[in-house]
Amino acid sequence: MKSARNIYFPERITNNSQLVFTQSGLESNNVEKILVVSESHLSEIKKPTLELLSHAKQMGLDTSAVLIGDGVVGQAEVLAGYGARTVYLADDPSLGFHSTSVYTEIIHDAVSQSGATQLWFSASESGADLMPRIAARLGVGAISDVTQFSIEEHEITARHPAMSGKVIQECIFEKDGIRVLSIRGGSYEIGPAEPATANIVKMSVPEKDMRAVVREIVAETTEGIDLTEATVVVAVGRGVKGEEGIELVRPLANLLGAGYGATRGVCDYGWMAHGAQIGQTGKKVAPQIYIALGISGAIQHLAGMIGSKLILAVNTDPEAPIFNVADYGIVGDLFKVVPILTEEIKIIRSASA
Ligand SMILES: Cc1cc2nc3c(=O)[nH]c(=O)nc-3n(C[C@H](O)[C@H](O)[C@H](O)COP(=O)(O)OP(=O)(O)OC[C@H]3O[C@@H](n4cnc5c(N)ncnc54)[C@H](O)[C@@H]3O)c2cc1C
Repeated sequence: MKSARNIYFPERITNNSQLVFTQSGLESNNVEKILVVSESHLSEIKKPTLELLSHAKQMGLDTSAVLIGDGVVGQAEVLAGYGARTVYLADDPSLGFHSTSVYTEIIHDAVSQSGATQLWFSASESGADLMPRIAARLGVGAISDVTQFSIEEHEITARHPAMSGKVIQECIFEKDGIRVLSIRGGSYEIGPAEPATANIVKMSVPEKDMRAVVREIVAETTEGIDLTEATVVVAVGRGVKGEEGIELVRPLANLLGAGYGATRGVCDYGWMAHGAQIGQTGKKVAPQIYIALGISGAIQHLAGMIGSKLILAVNTDPEAPIFNVADYGIVGDLFKVVPILTEEIKIIRSASA
């Protein structure tokens, strides 16, 4: 089943307008200096930020972080614990709400002060907003939504799903200069934290940009675990047939401590909130385990979950395209399979308790 997972690898694609660098930010001593843009929610640093720091640490890179917000100073220690030696801190009441222009200014300043050779964002809404602006300001290219990359003597080879996940592009930077990447959450593991104290560099806070003022953030109505941070995702398609089916699957998601997501079909019918949608026009997830129930496997859906480490699919149709990307498949009726799966997991859990 797995053979079709990475549908094909095209020849190495280099898109000069996107990938060529014009500035040199590399140090002569060849040490990569990574600046990770930290993201947090409700006073907690988001998992993708910790994944990036852990990955940099595991690769033995010289890592710093830029931390922006209101009352976030306490998070500097956490960033240090995951490997940030220096934290460029902008902590101010005016920074409580995301501001594209003000955040751009601060990150740009942190790049200059840190002498970073690489700038890593999470491939989140915030990353998608800020990364291109900063890359443009630095006069360099950027690679977005990376799911895997390697660094060899300053050369980055980064892979990311393109064309709704139909192909995996392999991208390189053609000239020296700061490398700007956004990396999909779940692509790398979070390592253990160690007690550490960061060197804190306080950043000046630019004037508020009056062209666009965020007055309020309305939280999306999805409940439970954030899909983009979940280790396990249970997702349903139109095969659930309605709200009753959604509720039949929910205990399985709860039991696994999983994020509960859906296809666009399910969200368009109003069976689940639009915040639960996974895919090209929804959330991008890369959990350790993705359980697809009654999902056909349209490319627009695959675009949001193809980076999952292990995919289990349940579908009545043996020809459903989801089986082309699944590691394990059950041809069967989810209304029969899900209660059995749930019971079996409960038995295994209680036996090992
Ligand atoms: C521009 C654009 C953007 C889009 N963006 C997204 C996106 O972000 N995310 C997304 O998901 N879609 C997106 N779509 C829609 C996408 O093309 C598909 O229509 C959608 O993903 C199909 O959803 P589905 O798998 O739930 O439904 P279907 O394709 O109808 O599949 C339902 C599946 O359930 C199976 N089934 C039926 N009954 C059972 C049962 N009892 N037990 C087990 N299996 C059963 C069927 O065999 C079938 O394979 C987009 C489309 C467009 C044009």
